[in-house]
Amino acid sequence: MLDEVGSGPADALRRRGVQVTAQRLAVMRAVSSRPHGTADEIEELVRADIGAVSRQAVYDALGILAENNLIRRIQPARSPARYEDRVDDNHHHVVCRTCGRTVDVDCAVGHRPCLKAADDHGFIIDEAEVVYWGSCPACQRAARRRGNGSARTENMNRKRT
Ligand SMILES: [Zn+2]
Ligand SMILES: [Zn+2]
Repeated sequence: MLDEVGSGPADALRRRGVQVTAQRLAVMRAVSSRPHGTADEIEELVRADIGAVSRQAVYDALGILAENNLIRRIQPARSPARYEDRVDDNHHHVVCRTCGRTVDVDCAVGHRPCLKAADDHGFIIDEAEVVYWGSCPACQRAARRRGNGSARTENMNRKRT
């Protein structure tokens, strides 16, 4: 293999002293192509990419990559863990309560810890992780359609009786 210095995933792994394997590279590619993907989604992409791979191998790769700060693992409450390759900043996330769609929100002040605690209790605070919760545009539209739809059904029922 050519030992070129570059910015590809293989170089990123080498720089962190992580052994480069086809599976880890495939997991890196999958995480890059599907930001905030769940382990299940990543597994599907990896399988489409390099063929048969065990779920355990994908989970192991995700764990090692996250441990070495090559990918970031986010775990919104009541939601499966999601992975992304945007690791070099202090961005936050907005998550849809209905479908789980997760989108990046840039750090409000541009650096950690982003929020100042009203009382730090003597801690030196170096990070604040913010999750904004809400309803994504698609789910808002779906809710409106459902609203109209049930109204129509109600009218139909009324006519029938
Ligand atoms: Zn949604
Ligand atoms: Zn993100």
